[in-house]
Amino acid sequence: MLDGRTSTKAAYVSGNRLLDALPLNDRVDLEADLEIIALAAHKSTQSAGSVMGHVDFPIDAVLSVVATLENGDSVEVGTVGSEGFVESDAALGSGLSQRTSFCQVGGMVGRMTIGRFEARMTSGPFARLMRRNVRAALFSAQQFAACNVKHSILQRCARWLSMTDDRVGNADFTLTHEFLAIMLGVRRASVSEAADALQTMGAITYRRGAVTIVNRKLLNTTACECYEACKDAFAVALQV
Ligand SMILES: [Zn+2]
Repeated sequence: MLDGRTSTKAAYVSGNRLLDALPLNDRVDLEADLEIIALAAHKSTQSAGSVMGHVDFPIDAVLSVVATLENGDSVEVGTVGSEGFVESDAALGSGLSQRTSFCQVGGMVGRMTIGRFEARMTSGPFARLMRRNVRAALFSAQQFAACNVKHSILQRCARWLSMTDDRVGNADFTLTHEFLAIMLGVRRASVSEAADALQTMGAITYRRGAVTIVNRKLLNTTACECYEACKDAFAVALQV
């Protein structure tokens, strides 16, 4: 159930921007409620239909929330890094995971039991921040619904890489064409074409699954408007 769990029991200091946006008084006892866990890439963190036992606040890990269809195909419907938490339904009082989530880029998360999360959701800045974050996540999901219909694979690929770059906080990460194709819900050949175009224009280099962002500004401006729109929505949500 807790696949990918490789170490525990470090104290939470900072690193999740959502938790770090809490006023100091509301942060003092956070470490008692958080277990720091190292997650390996591709490991599951929640399964659709299962009882939600915990909430994860990514520190430097990036988590994906995916919708799985009857034929087994999965498409990413949310990417969550240090600006948020998984899964956002917990803030709406849901006891069951509606979607499957897994670790997309390995790293650390702060894990809080659902009991402690719900206790903190009764009032105050914590509850306000979580609800504002859910609002931004909802905005993003709606934006991506439009994006998937209207924007090109090159724009979407640049958008996804820009978002992941912001969340990882590191210009280098590992990502296969196949994985990116699943995330974007497109054919692998189309992703290879888009990655080649981004490399040719000088935005990224790509070798054996390792992506290096060499011109962040160019990558960001090649992305569709959805990149900035969603980034802004989460930035506004961090204001208590
Ligand atoms: Zn878009």
